[in-house]
Amino acid sequence: PSFNDFLLSSDITRALAELGYTTPTDVQAAVIPVALEKKDIVVKSQTGSGKTAAFAIPIVELVDWNENKPQVLVLTPTRELAAQVKDEITNIGRFKRIKAAAVYGKQPFSRQKLELKQKTHVVVGTPGRVLDHMEKDTLPVEKIGCLIIDEADEMLNMGFIDQVAAIIEKLPADRVTMLLSATLSEEVSALAENYMIHPVKMEM
Ligand code: AMP
Repeated sequence: PSFNDFLLSSDITRALAELGYTTPTDVQAAVIPVALEKKDIVVKSQTGSGKTAAFAIPIVELVDWNENKPQVLVLTPTRELAAQVKDEITNIGRFKRIKAAAVYGKQPFSRQKLELKQKTHVVVGTPGRVLDHMEKDTLPVEKIGCLIIDEADEMLNMGFIDQVAAIIEKLPADRVTMLLSATLSEEVSALAENYMIHPVKMEM
């Protein structure tokens, strides 16, 4: 397979070429065409598989540049992962001029608040801080049409389930949800069943 098979816009294929991404990985080949059709997806995949770009590529492709409020929310269990995901989205979206913001704890809330007031297409963050911004109305949710739950098993292991649930309850019901996890435990499957609509399941 080739990235050209997915009929991505040239802004995206140009960025992938510059990143040296010539051939889609297995998880990318499976996820990208289904995500571009805006279906809910549950993906079992490991770190190192190229899972970040598997969701970042369709996100960047589908985002409407002209909308100023966030359209995509990515939840990650750790600050490090949030920063990595933000960088990947920024790199893939550079020619489309996609603006991603990372929000996580141990960083000034006020600075993140100012950043979220600027045009932001994608917000990536850890559950506690994301919920904090939602409750203080510094993260507008009304345009969020896509939720990504990355490393869902880690998120549950770290005890974030209540925060994740509270975040999801505040999001528009009319949205696409993608969940990624290295393991599909009963808890992860329950999360998917509760908050996703007939998800396509992929085990890599
Ligand atoms: P991830 O599993 O998302 O953490 O990605 C693992 C590594 O693979 C990252 O360093 C990516 O930059 C790299 N990568 C992702 N997709 C591709 C690709 N299609 N071709 C080459 N490298 C890739």
